[in-house]
Amino acid sequence: MRKTKIICTMGQSTEGLYEELIVNGMDAARFNFSHENHEIHGRRIADMKRAREKLNIPIPLILDTKGPEMRIGMLKEKVTLENGHEIILTVDDIIGDVNMVSITNKKLYEKVDVGQSIFIDDGSINLEVVEIADKDIKCKVISGGALSSRKGVNIPNCDTGLPFMTAQDLKDIEFGIAMDFDFIALSFVHNAKDIHTVKDILKRNHREDIKIIAKIENSEAVKNIDEIIAAADSIMIARGDLGIELPVSTVPNIQKQLIKKSYSSSKPVIVATQMLESMTENPMPTRAEVSDVANAVYDGTSVVMLSGETAAGMFPLESLQMMTQVINEAEAAIDYEARFDRNRMQFTDYNVLNTISEASVITSFKINAKAIVVPTRTGNSARMISSFRPSSPIIAISMDSTTQRQLNISWGIRPMYSTFIKDQKELFEKVMEKAVESDIVKKGDLVILTAGIPTGSKGKTNMLKLHKIGEEVIGH
Ligand code: PGA
Ligand code: MN
Repeated sequence: MRKTKIICTMGQSTEGLYEELIVNGMDAARFNFSHENHEIHGRRIADMKRAREKLNIPIPLILDTKGPEMRIGMLKEKVTLENGHEIILTVDDIIGDVNMVSITNKKLYEKVDVGQSIFIDDGSINLEVVEIADKDIKCKVISGGALSSRKGVNIPNCDTGLPFMTAQDLKDIEFGIAMDFDFIALSFVHNAKDIHTVKDILKRNHREDIKIIAKIENSEAVKNIDEIIAAADSIMIARGDLGIELPVSTVPNIQKQLIKKSYSSSKPVIVATQMLESMTENPMPTRAEVSDVANAVYDGTSVVMLSGETAAGMFPLESLQMMTQVINEAEAAIDYEARFDRNRMQFTDYNVLNTISEASVITSFKINAKAIVVPTRTGNSARMISSFRPSSPIIAISMDSTTQRQLNISWGIRPMYSTFIKDQKELFEKVMEKAVESDIVKKGDLVILTAGIPTGSKGKTNMLKLHKIGEEVIGH
């Protein structure tokens, strides 16, 4: 079983391909609310839900917020900015040209300083502020290029004064609640407070079970990473914006550190952006892209993400198939037990849950268990086992379909659903039945069962049993 999960971003190129995507290994569907309106998203969401129901695969839906973005205004036509040329960013809503363009953030002139760098269009154009004259920001082109309407603007290390949550974000989140999304990926998170703001909104809507993915995409988020990981349910290393907001050469090291920090806290971690970028236009990736995906797998990431490759590219299915192949090849080369032994020291504060989880993983290595089977109400017990990165697949059985779908982005977990059963003996029998149904184990296989007894109370995982499938799980 493949352990590293794959998120595909939905878009024009995935229309009509929902079943094929699921069959080819997509584990979660991301809807990017920086683009499109609710009507278009709504239609795609409905199609995706139909596909997942038909195939009976628990594909979670991820709503990615637009966030506090800044853009340039409209241009009369596409222009080329030459190095050394001067261009003015203005608060007036004009149709721009090579000498002057409008900017959506009308207070920006109060926020930037002379000497500051301004990046446009994912960093492809670099300006430097030379003068602030009234409300005009005069800039020199440091690194020019082609410029067209409505391109995004990044200003590293600048408090742009934009609110963390825009009115549009709020509407989108309410839409997401109505559409029964499983995750909200929050763009441009700065600190734990930002996450609590959204958790409060979810709570007011009685949906605090929707999980939050904090997108790490600027220097402040990197600085506050510990409190962010503690407050969020998962993080995304959003390398697109991160590589503009910080020197791009620092991104690989940040990625390595964040992967380790996140999964050791048993929070899924997503490596995102440009993973197979060249496949938006070519049927084959570059060697460097393949190495990038494989290295993220070696480093223990929970998830790798496809963005434009699936949303807007020419080869969405081929990109997904390539991703699957590269992951499978990389995982085949990992010695999980050796890696576990190397990483052992990072788990220092022991409690009942992490002790039992670690013991179940150590035991699974020793007896080469076919699976670790865990009934899990909130998903926490299963995620804790996953954080130890065992070689045995983790079969998590949940009695809640949202929890089941949310576990589908966790490393090494195959989430199964069971109707709620209170009786302990019946529950354990059901859990084993579900394990067999997953096709990962069969009669006669030795598995590890971890659970909380007595059953029914959450967060009480306290037992470990070695069990041969087919034998009685628990006596009278
Ligand atoms: P985005 O986030 O695709 O929403 O910009 C990912 C990133 O910045 O890498
Ligand atoms: Mn981004």
